[in-house]
Amino acid sequence: MIIDDQYYDLIIVGTGAGGGTLAQKLAPTGKKILILERGDFMPLEEQNRTNVDIFKRERYHAPEQWYDSAGEPFSPQMNYAVGGNTKIYGAALLRFRERDFETVKHQAGVSPEWCVKYSDFEPYYTEAEMLYKVHGQIAIDPTEPPHSADYPFPALVQTPEIAEISEAIAKLGLHPSPLPLGLTREDDDPTNDAEVSGIIPALKHPHVTLKTGAKVVYLHTNPSGRGVKGVEAEIGGQSYLFLADIVVLACGAVNSAALLLRSASDRHPQGLANSSQLVGRNLMKSLMTVVVQLSRKANSGVFQKTLCVNDFYGGDANFPYPMGHIYNSGGLLADPIFAEAPPLLSSLAKFMPEFGLKQLATRSIGWWIQTEDLPDSHNRVRVEGKKLLIEYTSNNSEAHDRLIYRWTDLLKSVEKNLKGLQQGMVHPRGEVPIQVVANQCGTCRFGNDPTTSVLDPNCRTHEVDNLYVVDSSFFPSNASVSPALTIMANALRVGEHLIERLR
Ligand SMILES: Cc1cc2nc3c(=O)[nH]c(=O)nc-3n(C[C@H](O)[C@H](O)[C@H](O)COP(=O)(O)OP(=O)(O)OC[C@H]3O[C@@H](n4cnc5c(N)ncnc54)[C@H](O)[C@@H]3O)c2cc1C
Repeated sequence: MIIDDQYYDLIIVGTGAGGGTLAQKLAPTGKKILILERGDFMPLEEQNRTNVDIFKRERYHAPEQWYDSAGEPFSPQMNYAVGGNTKIYGAALLRFRERDFETVKHQAGVSPEWCVKYSDFEPYYTEAEMLYKVHGQIAIDPTEPPHSADYPFPALVQTPEIAEISEAIAKLGLHPSPLPLGLTREDDDPTNDAEVSGIIPALKHPHVTLKTGAKVVYLHTNPSGRGVKGVEAEIGGQSYLFLADIVVLACGAVNSAALLLRSASDRHPQGLANSSQLVGRNLMKSLMTVVVQLSRKANSGVFQKTLCVNDFYGGDANFPYPMGHIYNSGGLLADPIFAEAPPLLSSLAKFMPEFGLKQLATRSIGWWIQTEDLPDSHNRVRVEGKKLLIEYTSNNSEAHDRLIYRWTDLLKSVEKNLKGLQQGMVHPRGEVPIQVVANQCGTCRFGNDPTTSVLDPNCRTHEVDNLYVVDSSFFPSNASVSPALTIMANALRVGEHLIERLR
């Protein structure tokens, strides 16, 4: 193994929503920072999501296999590149709702209270919205939590097709609102991501170094086991050891947990920082189903996700439990998550044999129904030698199914009032399979008690003094809205703590 001759103040592993945002926050301190990223910079043409080819090429799948509970291999929808999964995300940047930080009773169980509350996160949400240039509008959605500042940019104007549908939904007494979106306003790649707003600005500081193609495989501790001493990475087939005072993992909830489990040693026989045995457990990934509505008129087929409805977030008169969040998809075929729904494609083909892929893209509107899944210690990441296993059974499905039915009923009413939409149609739908781990979280939950959590409230491991995790692993519960803004805000919050510590 080659020992790098530099000594760093801090190493960040991973450049996605957590790692990229943290790098940007810490770079101005002048401290010597090394960022290790297993992927490379993503070529621009790979970032073009408006291509029907996504279906055929599994473009955004990692070149590796994971295994499900039955031992079946699958290739996960993971993007290993500078910017991580934010390079392919939809940039819908929503705050978790105030109640998401509290104990919430669901039909299928309870989502636990967070040790840090919405009011603690609020200033960092505001900072993250500035950093990622979020375009939104506060006052429409009744579930929108309090903001200390308005969105930094006005909401995107809806396309005529979506504006018409939004009005029809509002007439039914609901509150459709613009989906807050992180945008650069540049035509070739309009979404704002952790490379653009995190890594590129961080690298402008001379003491920040990025090594790409650097896959971290093991964390070495000092003899007492209380501190990480060295980070071992594979670069171009060669092993390197990097040394630093502080190490921060931001590999994503699955890979950070796997790295800790693989870093077992005499002092940490169950995996690093894992005497609670919670590393890898309580994996959540959201219940997600897309429902398709057909239009009589052709649309461009490439519009962004732009609209959301949260009227059923806490339930409705017939179901007094949380149900979830609804948003329109980007152009159906341009949505990498939709690319994961081959069963949906075959049902579309069955119900609408006259439609080819191209026509579907330009005549359809997709609606994503997203419901929180609940932490369950049996849902977990496990490693067996080089194998990475995802043992996951979804829960809270009654809430999800009810929301799907509620929404498809509502779409029928909308269709009666709008001539441009197909009427009396069946709404084909497809649920995402195991390989969609877009909203993975929860595998190293934070909390005050070392017996029931892996990380403390500052996202430092309870057991290893200089080891932190700032990706989505820290979530004790999932919300129904998407996770990225909360990961970014948390990285900024932890960044403030690290700035103090580095002083
Ligand atoms: C298709 C798609 C659409 C999405 N749309 C939205 C959306 O609209 N809104 C939203 O809020 N969320 C969305 N998400 C989810 C969002 O992208 C993730 O929640 C977020 O990126 C997770 O951030 P993270 O820091 O936890 O991990 P990631 O962003 O996945 O970053 C992890 C990084 O670590 C690197 N890495 C992993 N292992 C190692 C290792 N061993 N050594 C070195 N580097 C390593 C990876 O290459 C990657 O760069 C979407 C996700 C997908 C896939």
